[in-house]
Amino acid sequence: TAPGLTLLGLGQMGAALAGRMLDQGRAVTVWNRTPERAAPLVARGAASAETPAEAIARNGLVVTCLLRYASVRETLDPVAASLRGRTLIDLTTTTPDEARELGRWAAEHDVEYLNGAIMATPYQIGTPVARILYSGAPDVFARHRDLLAPWAEGVYDGPDAGAASLIDLAMLSGMYHMFAGLFHGAAMAATVGMSAQDFASRTIPLIESLVAHFAADAAIIDGGDYSVPGQQSLDFSDLSDILRTSEEAGVDSTTIAAIQALIHRQREAGHGAEGFARIYETLRHPESGR
Ligand code: NDP
Repeated sequence: TAPGLTLLGLGQMGAALAGRMLDQGRAVTVWNRTPERAAPLVARGAASAETPAEAIARNGLVVTCLLRYASVRETLDPVAASLRGRTLIDLTTTTPDEARELGRWAAEHDVEYLNGAIMATPYQIGTPVARILYSGAPDVFARHRDLLAPWAEGVYDGPDAGAASLIDLAMLSGMYHMFAGLFHGAAMAATVGMSAQDFASRTIPLIESLVAHFAADAAIIDGGDYSVPGQQSLDFSDLSDILRTSEEAGVDSTTIAAIQALIHRQREAGHGAEGFARIYETLRHPESGR
């Protein structure tokens, strides 16, 4: 039989993680600060523990899925001794530095450690779209990879414990910027009477066709040569038309103005003949503004 695991934290996500492992016939021990939340999982076959220490003692693999970093430390600090020699995988959303700090804490207490960032909703756990990014000790990932597979496709992002969290947040940054841009467009379209839904159905095919170009821009960024012939240069357009129209229509232009400011930094540095991807250099090197 496959080895069991202990799960600390049975919120929306923790309950989904525990449930998926139970569905796979795995032995799962659960603990939650508010004990009542364990009942539905116990009904599905989980063993429940009254304290974190008791839960930890049951299995070599301990997974935490709590609210935030502070709740992880609040839960684990008092029971560090019982974690000794075991493996801790923290799936709580933390910042990269918090993940690294937990890595140092784990090392101090002889605990093997891997940080994970869940890129899925609770309902997506165990479905093909779910991904969990992991970073930390490579051998810990290699040894547990199959065990963790029922949750999501596991992607290993290297030995820096903070990497999984950083990449997760980087992807979310891209997503939020994109959606903010779409909301700004919807606000502009609304000033000539278009509903947000109509704007969405008009815009989605365009975005879908363009988003693949990110790969070409990424190749330009990695290559470091932003020269593009002709019209796509930063000199050709600094987005003034969009900005002016947004202002004249009475729509807040904070987001588009921020992009224009990045373009201007590059033009001032003498890169106006180069392509839009050049603004990456200002983002990456804000001090030198290269
Ligand atoms: P919930 O709010 O549903 O659950 C939070 C959990 O943390 C509960 O089990 C709660 O216990 C526990 N908790 C909070 N504070 C403490 C504390 N001080 N000590 C001990 N336990 C504590 O959150 P989710 O389950 O949705 O999220 C859990 C983690 O998963 C978060 O870091 C979240 O960012 C991450 N995540 C969630 C996603 C989602 O879509 N839900 C997606 C990706 C990541 P109690 O029941 O006693 O309150």
